[in-house]
Amino acid sequence: MIRVGVVGYGTIGKRVAAAVGRQSDMVVAGVAKRSPDYAAALARETATPIYASDEDAVAAFESAGIRTEGTVADLVDRADVVVDATPAGVGAENRELYAETGTPAVLQGGEDADVADVSFNARANYEAAAGADSVRVLSCNCTGLARLLAPLDEAYGVRSARATLVRRGGDPGQTDRGPINDILPDPMGESHHAADVREVLPDVDIRTHGVKVPTTVMHLQTVRVRLDDPPANARSVRRTLAAEPRLMFVTGEFGIEGCGDLMDVGRDSERPRTDLWENCVFEESIELAGNECTLFQAIDQESDVVPENIDAIRAVTGVADAGESRHMTDRALGVGSLPTSPAHTAEVAPVDGDA
Ligand code: NAD
Repeated sequence: MIRVGVVGYGTIGKRVAAAVGRQSDMVVAGVAKRSPDYAAALARETATPIYASDEDAVAAFESAGIRTEGTVADLVDRADVVVDATPAGVGAENRELYAETGTPAVLQGGEDADVADVSFNARANYEAAAGADSVRVLSCNCTGLARLLAPLDEAYGVRSARATLVRRGGDPGQTDRGPINDILPDPMGESHHAADVREVLPDVDIRTHGVKVPTTVMHLQTVRVRLDDPPANARSVRRTLAAEPRLMFVTGEFGIEGCGDLMDVGRDSERPRTDLWENCVFEESIELAGNECTLFQAIDQESDVVPENIDAIRAVTGVADAGESRHMTDRALGVGSLPTSPAHTAEVAPVDGDA
């Protein structure tokens, strides 16, 4: 069993810890937090060992009535792998501790790329992380792009990709974020996401732009991909994408017209925290004109990186190859299981002229 320590128990850390708990080859060694809040108290109720960020925080936890097993340093000692899901910049500070103790670390996309030996996406470059001391899982938007572009590149060659990322202003708990009533180019020019995607797909010519909107509900990406060797029609593209468990087709035919409907799918499902781990690809939006393929996909920013974190743990410990790990992760979580489209599996019938 791989003992996994989760340092940072917020939006991402909670979900990664829960997902680790569902894997047959992993166990949660403990979770570390800075503040003794409701999340720590609820974790304690499930018998999850709690650690504090440092000695001062231990005292704060004790006075809030939440017993800890020690500090982050103690957790790192007791773990085979650490997943660091602290706020952007803190992972870079913690990294020295992980290196000193020789504990492989999985960091998050809010950190700069040079925080880790390699940036990671389980579909694009799993093998590059084999045996690495540290990996950085791409951010939510970049994970969504890499999952889409990797199979398109393999099947048809991606000549170029252009994406506009309509980004949620903040997560549901981030009441200090915005905008409240605006539509903001963010940034005013090319966004960093393209460079991050190139970390895992270095040969792909990609440019990205971002727009921030007043919602906490998902990101919506418009993606335009020029293919080197396009198939005869859009149906073939759909078939290629339908074979990817982490790309979930969603359709108006099944009443899914946008991100609000998708959140309702999450709420109605047995999924924890309404999570949608897959890219939600609007099936009717997939078009092919000449060599240019276009589509919309929605990304649940709070959860799509969770399967990738699980795979990153297996990649750094070398216990499974890419295909095995993705399969184990997907089966344990139920990725690809939601009935969001009549054709959300690979059962798209071929038509005359299909490549
Ligand atoms: P968060 O603020 O929700 O949670 C951070 C957690 O870290 C909190 O539990 C906090 O108590 C804890 N913490 C802070 N300092 C600590 C320390 N020194 N030691 C131990 N714990 C400490 O943050 P988040 O949204 O989960 O983001 C974590 C990382 O994941 C960031 O790099 C972020 O960019 C990335 N990410 C976030 C999202 C998202 O939409 N929220 C999506 C993908 C990637």
